[in-house]
Amino acid sequence: MDSVWSLRHSLWSAPWTTVYKTVGDTPGTPGRTCLTSTNGKGQSVDERKSADPVAVLRRIAFLLERTQAETFKVRAFRTAAAALLPLGQDEVRARAAQGTLRDLKGIGASTEKVVLETLDGGGSTYLRKLEETAGPLADGGEMRRRLRGDLHMHSDWSDGGSPIEEMAMTAVEVGHEYVCLSDHSPRLTVANGLSAERLARQLDVVAAVNEQLGGRLRMLTGIEVDILDDGSLDQSEEMLARLEVVVASVHSKLRMEPEAMTRRMVRAVQHPRTKVLGHVTGRLITGGRGTRPQSTFDADKVFEACVANDVAVEINSRPERADPPDDLLVRALEAGCLFAIDSDAHAPGQLDFLDYGAARAEQLGVPPERIVNTWPVERLLEWSAG
Ligand SMILES: [Zn+2]
Ligand SMILES: [Zn+2]
Repeated sequence: MDSVWSLRHSLWSAPWTTVYKTVGDTPGTPGRTCLTSTNGKGQSVDERKSADPVAVLRRIAFLLERTQAETFKVRAFRTAAAALLPLGQDEVRARAAQGTLRDLKGIGASTEKVVLETLDGGGSTYLRKLEETAGPLADGGEMRRRLRGDLHMHSDWSDGGSPIEEMAMTAVEVGHEYVCLSDHSPRLTVANGLSAERLARQLDVVAAVNEQLGGRLRMLTGIEVDILDDGSLDQSEEMLARLEVVVASVHSKLRMEPEAMTRRMVRAVQHPRTKVLGHVTGRLITGGRGTRPQSTFDADKVFEACVANDVAVEINSRPERADPPDDLLVRALEAGCLFAIDSDAHAPGQLDFLDYGAARAEQLGVPPERIVNTWPVERLLEWSAG
């Protein structure tokens, strides 16, 4: 899946054009239609009474992901959408009429039912049920509306669940102007971190994705680079220099002695390419992976280093992280830090997690102008190149 060639022959190219016709060609403008998100920026599929089975299957997957359903539950819907996408509506209708939908690899009983109900014009009962229960995740309020993009998300090149183009397409649909692809670095082998070679190849793919997007969204090149024990970064200097946004995060030895952890984090923040300090304390407060206490360090020293080096403190929106905790977030605010509200999405629907982070930032009084992803892309890139 790692080459531009296979990307062109997988979910997109011509089929992408089909999907974009459904999505609406003018994201970011009022009144546009929006397949996957209803957070004040668009209409849901239900409201549009969509007759497009691909759109409905993707919408179901999106809603399941944003409420953190198990991956296997979501996969059936994404696989079915990918199976139908290249066929075109006429063939899908013909197969529905002949009863041969399930001969297609990727269509099972439940997804066939969604397709048939959609084509009948009555709409999918499953989608209707999901729409009723999915609700807004949190009240991100005015802050959410001011966010123009997201600097932290993963594709299936590392430990995300969906291809780059699906993440991009969904980012368009949630109303983003830009999104940074920040897959993991080599040492995180459990997350299939990218070697310098794979990352270099990914840059070509991002360029192809941007070409395909035709200005609807700018996908920024990036990385979530692991902060090693001594505070150095887990990627070659050459590759770090080529990326537009570098998010640096601690993923191992979270229980390090406070002094050593402080030195480690400060050194990472001082790296000239680091722009965002990811999930600052590493804590886990809920969820399937269990809980984990926050790592301990001299927060004032770390935040001072962030201010001195123009590094944004991430407000990680994942509900099991909500990192940094309130007290540290307030200290970062008092220290004069910049912030980035990030979804850390590992699936398209999780791009909507921004609501959680936006709600916290609003509640704690973070001024929007200090949140880098409220900035227009030109200003953001000026800052990240600095
Ligand atoms: Zn991380
Ligand atoms: Zn991440």
